[in-house]
Amino acid sequence: MLGLMQDWPLLCHRIIEHAAEVHGTQEVITRSVEGPIHRTNYRQIRDRALKVSQRLDRDGIKLGDRVATIAWNTWRHLEAWYGIMGIGAICHTVNPRLFPEQIAWIINHAEDRVVMTDLTFIPILEKIADKLPTVERYIVFTDKAHMPQTTLKNAVAYEDWIAEADGDFKWKTFDENTAAAMCYTSGTTGDPKGVLYSHRSNVLHALMANSGDSLGANAADTMLPVVPLFHANSWGIAFSAPSMGTKLVFPGAKLDGASVYELLDTEKVTHTAGVPTVWLMLLNHMSANSLKLPHLRMVVCGGSAMPRSMIQSFLDLGVAVRHAWGMTEMSPIGTLAALKPPFAELKGEARLDILQTQGYPPFGVQMKITDDAGKDLPWDGKTFGRLKVSGPAVSKAYFRLDADILDEDGYFDTGDVATIDAHGYMRITDRSKDVIKSGGEWISSIDLENLAVGHPAVAEAAVIGVYHPKWDERPLLIIQLKQGQSATREDILKFMDGKIAKWWMPDDVAFVDGIPHTATGKILKTALRDQFKAYSFPNAAA
Ligand code: AMP
Repeated sequence: MLGLMQDWPLLCHRIIEHAAEVHGTQEVITRSVEGPIHRTNYRQIRDRALKVSQRLDRDGIKLGDRVATIAWNTWRHLEAWYGIMGIGAICHTVNPRLFPEQIAWIINHAEDRVVMTDLTFIPILEKIADKLPTVERYIVFTDKAHMPQTTLKNAVAYEDWIAEADGDFKWKTFDENTAAAMCYTSGTTGDPKGVLYSHRSNVLHALMANSGDSLGANAADTMLPVVPLFHANSWGIAFSAPSMGTKLVFPGAKLDGASVYELLDTEKVTHTAGVPTVWLMLLNHMSANSLKLPHLRMVVCGGSAMPRSMIQSFLDLGVAVRHAWGMTEMSPIGTLAALKPPFAELKGEARLDILQTQGYPPFGVQMKITDDAGKDLPWDGKTFGRLKVSGPAVSKAYFRLDADILDEDGYFDTGDVATIDAHGYMRITDRSKDVIKSGGEWISSIDLENLAVGHPAVAEAAVIGVYHPKWDERPLLIIQLKQGQSATREDILKFMDGKIAKWWMPDDVAFVDGIPHTATGKILKTALRDQFKAYSFPNAAA
């Protein structure tokens, strides 16, 4: 027997429609790419998103067509986001930090018909435009006054383009499993892979993000997503914030410590989300200028492991942290480290121990850890295994790739190595390809990096496994010092000594001027392995 509830497809535009009806005057504020602070609200965003839909429809964009955005977090990007999805076209967010050849590869693989972009990225696009045969037109997120001369095909200023629509248009309806959005993973090896979100997965993911133990914001709060819309769905915030009526503050093109601080302060932001490198810049700016953020209550941090010292710095400022783990293939939320009852009252180091885990999953994400043969491993907080996940907002395949990516139970292998404890708290110990295999045992490169970065002179630390004749691999610690600071190999090793098992201690420390990053801000270990391929340990006698 079937239930007698309404058939109400979970479509993304219902979210912005709800925001406009119920939270219509709630503000959306942006540091515009042109410079000034811009203020709008959810009602106006909905109205203009409808114009985007109408205008795309008039240009012949149909259900399933791909429309790319290469753009910062701004109100125009949000309008385009809902406008594209609102006619069943696919909003393909492209990461502008990729190499131009990768951007071209991705646009061609997706066969994008339209590219919407910011002023910032016109020069990059002009260089690759002749290699993008599927793109019919470029729409620049600006107005007539700021629109430059450009060689881009059929280029038009966004404001002129939507002014040609009167907004008398209805969202289209279609099956909730229809594709809504697309984001390529920036794999460090091989071609990028297209993750294709559905309307249903995005709406369910927004509901998962809305819990108090997830992003933790509600209608009375203000959220500043530093994490870009092109980075794994801006961790769901572009859906979650309007679905709850949370005020949004967008940082535009300026993500440096001073600019982010200024917006957090002037807009009295209560919640913010971003990767550790962003928080490092913010904390440095705040400590150099003895600044505080009295309104800020929660920093959500993910994308790479949040160092313990960073958690402590925020706690010292009176700001709670929520360490989060996820991936593009998971829409992206996987786990968040909220404090459950047995841990809520913990103090000091014991509290930090829990806050530093990657946390436990919200309803809608199931996890398991297995050995290489696929056998389930215990949730004892000690045994490491391959982390696998399933859920309604987890990928089952990649766009136009035939490979089967699920195991026989329907779980997706995340490529991460983790422990899970009896309370469901997961701790990432490594990427499966980065874990250091020393004498048959595994050493977590992430644990060593987190520890080393706690040294006051260290700006960033990376650990790679280097060949060792006796142990196969041993850890090499690579350090970038803070500007104007000094420390020797011995200082760093002494600092780490006693805080980890003796056999985990790095065999050597190398100092570099800069640590390379991927386009999403993760340490680029392949480049480091390349840089150190001729390196051998001073103590490496067989
Ligand atoms: P992406 O799809 O670009 O967001 O990358 C996902 C990967 O980033 C995960 O599989 C992890 O390896 C890594 N990652 C994300 N969040 C964390 C975290 N909090 N701690 C450690 N690694 C993380």
